[in-house]
Amino acid sequence: MAVGVLALQGSFNEHIAALRRLGVKGVEIRKPEQLRSVTSLIIPGGESTTMAKLAECHNLFPALRDFVKMGKPVWGTCAGLIFLADKANGQKTGGQELIGGLDCTVHRNFFGSQIQSFEAELSVPEIAAKEGGPPSFRAVFIRAPAILEVGPDVEVLADISVPSGKTIDSNSALESQEDNTGSEKKVIVAVKQGNLLGTTFHPELTADTRWHSYFLKMVSEVEEGTSSSISTSGED
Ligand code: GLN
Repeated sequence: MAVGVLALQGSFNEHIAALRRLGVKGVEIRKPEQLRSVTSLIIPGGESTTMAKLAECHNLFPALRDFVKMGKPVWGTCAGLIFLADKANGQKTGGQELIGGLDCTVHRNFFGSQIQSFEAELSVPEIAAKEGGPPSFRAVFIRAPAILEVGPDVEVLADISVPSGKTIDSNSALESQEDNTGSEKKVIVAVKQGNLLGTTFHPELTADTRWHSYFLKMVSEVEEGTSSSISTSGED
């Protein structure tokens, strides 16, 4: 099995290294025609505006959109998730072009600037059940987005509590106001919709390969024809 890794910018080498640890070859993708040589794709984290500009320069958008529409497995991490989302808003979103396909609204830089990057333990029952190992997952959030809205076909795999003392406004995201309601607020950080997987954090930066292994199982299911979620919308 070989998995394509969009290699325009960002942490593509780290994804390729994680795949290698699982005995799988990661193929660097920079041109539309290279997408024909792979049946699945990882879009790494990095900087989504820059990634979009580079994708535009390489004329990659039509081929990437077709790839998603054909129901091929695609996993976006952080900036890659933003790129896959149908809608992105938030700070410094200059109307950048998105691939789309994942029915959600993401908020860029939701948790603040680079200095507010953090690590957290996430409970992800779906992955732990399939992959075994400890019930929680170390997650690295680097100037991370959050998923604020999802469509009906989107399965939420993980969420995280918003830091105390902050409130969420879907237009301006995290506000430093006292929240007197006392209710715990959560935002979504990992989703699955058919053959699309999205994480707002960076599994490729940890030694735990269970997220990659989970994605490879999604790929195997499609290759073996056992996936119930292959989209036919691109084949009309
Ligand atoms: N903040 C970046 C963006 O909006 C994403 C950061 C990341 O991929 N670690 O594109």
